[in-house]
Amino acid sequence: VSKPLSAQTALAPAASTVEDVLALVRARGGRVTSPRRVILEALFEAAQPRVGAGHLTAPQLAEAVHHRAPDVHMSTVYRNLDDLQRMGVVVHSHMGHGPATYQLASLAHAHFICEACGATVEAPETLVRELAREAQTELGFSIDPYHFAILGRCAACQ
Ligand SMILES: [Zn+2]
Ligand SMILES: [Zn+2]
Ligand SMILES: [Zn+2]
Repeated sequence: VSKPLSAQTALAPAASTVEDVLALVRARGGRVTSPRRVILEALFEAAQPRVGAGHLTAPQLAEAVHHRAPDVHMSTVYRNLDDLQRMGVVVHSHMGHGPATYQLASLAHAHFICEACGATVEAPETLVRELAREAQTELGFSIDPYHFAILGRCAACQ
């Protein structure tokens, strides 16, 4: 029985390298192509703490891919981004009012966003795991904690 992709799948600590993710793509019936490899490399690089926290909008991702492989067109990036999401290896998040951002499913995490100053707080995985377990136990509901940010007030703005 193949279960639908869920938060549990997305938050599983697997696929920690580009090769791991490409292996997942193959396992899910996808082809490994050069644009897909470059997109995943760009997402892994963006996930480095000093570069960003893995949050790239589609245009930012296309730009990052263009730097690495100038021959890969933007339309190719967008199409492959859709394919990679369908295969469950890339997910998108809505961070407050801004455009959706893309991240690797294996590194996906939830966010708290301050409505007053706009600060983004990375939600600790333990907290999210607790919420996911409660939602499943109490309501039989499987949440995708990374999909929408939770809005509120940061420590400095209360
Ligand atoms: Zn704030
Ligand atoms: Zn984040
Ligand atoms: Zn969405």
